[in-house]
Amino acid sequence: MPSTLEWLECSRCHVAYDVGAPRNLCRCGGILLARYRLEEAARTLTREALSRRPTKSLWRYEEVLPGSDDPVTLGEGGTPLLPLRFLGEAAGFGKLLLKDESQNPTGSFKARGMACAITMARKQGVRRIALPSAGNAGSAAAAYGALAGLSVDVFLPDETPEPMRLEAAVCGASLHLVRGDIASAGAAMRAHDSAADWFDLSTLREPYRCEGKKTLGYEIAEQLGWTLPDAIVYPTGGGTGLIGMWKAFEEMEQLGLVEAGKRPRMVVVQAEGCAPIVEAFTSGAPKAAPWDGARTFAAGLRVPAPLADALILQAVRESGGTAVAVSDAQMAKAQVEMARGEGIFACPEGAATLVAARRLLAEGFLSPSDRVVIFNTASGLKIPRIPGVRVP
Ligand SMILES: *Cc1c(COP(=O)(O)O)cnc(C)c1O
Ligand SMILES: [Zn+2]
Repeated sequence: MPSTLEWLECSRCHVAYDVGAPRNLCRCGGILLARYRLEEAARTLTREALSRRPTKSLWRYEEVLPGSDDPVTLGEGGTPLLPLRFLGEAAGFGKLLLKDESQNPTGSFKARGMACAITMARKQGVRRIALPSAGNAGSAAAAYGALAGLSVDVFLPDETPEPMRLEAAVCGASLHLVRGDIASAGAAMRAHDSAADWFDLSTLREPYRCEGKKTLGYEIAEQLGWTLPDAIVYPTGGGTGLIGMWKAFEEMEQLGLVEAGKRPRMVVVQAEGCAPIVEAFTSGAPKAAPWDGARTFAAGLRVPAPLADALILQAVRESGGTAVAVSDAQMAKAQVEMARGEGIFACPEGAATLVAARRLLAEGFLSPSDRVVIFNTASGLKIPRIPGVRVP
């Protein structure tokens, strides 16, 4: 079935752009979102048709993905939604589910976004891409870029965990280490002599990474028999996955795949050492102020000034959700609990969602009868150390 991708819409001023050329932000500075001919898609993208599709990767939702006629794919998506029987019950949850994204190519859910972004970049004739990354986006871009034959430049904070740098380097990317965080890396990239030769693949400055990540929402709904959970507890850096899932819920309602008006509450989880969205949510602000001196060992959460702050906050508020910050020590402890209790060696960002879900249950924001989905966004193997854990 062909992609029904039709145009890009500015999330701020609603101006339309065609999808034939590579694009970043709208002229007004707004983030562009992909739009599809959903009525046409609905004719073939049905529950019944999906139950007969052999493709397990995210490309099974091809009608509502960009470039699905000729994808750059390593088999991303199709990850399990695992019941956390032991930890869930111990915490008092009736149903606590973990979307285990560590099983993606390159060991993180960044693969979803990069598959779509690099598919479109290649299709549009782009030869050279560049992006700032906290680590996983860079190594995923390097892998998909290698497959597509593109040149890839990655700008990384100098503290980026070595396994991610190694992976990007082995895949042939040019690495630029920058003092500071991902915001400094982005600034260094845009100031680079070659900046004009690169297509900028930065989080949400590029419209199709979000399309790959939205498939988390489609998969969760399909795995729950085309119902949606009561809450989504998401480790939020740039917010692509959260915005993508919220977009997916809207599309699925219009496609008739899920009942309208039953969306989950969206919960943002950040690190205490870098919590710009939590701060803005708590103070009622429509946008987030840049976080000074961002510090956390959860590299994916070290995003001091997310470009999509307004869109993230809007989705959280519309959904009746909330935002919570957890400490590095709590993440590290939960990594050990997940490994020993459930056999899952999670990344700290994933462990953060367990900490947050338990806290929200204890505080009464979540109830024991809620179906709650948390995320392990990458393998624990992608960072070399856990604070407080001794390696014999
Ligand atoms: C990038 C990343 C995140 C944050 O994802 P966003 O969708 O950009 O908010 C969380 N966890 C890990 C492991 C990551 O690499
Ligand atoms: Zn605009």
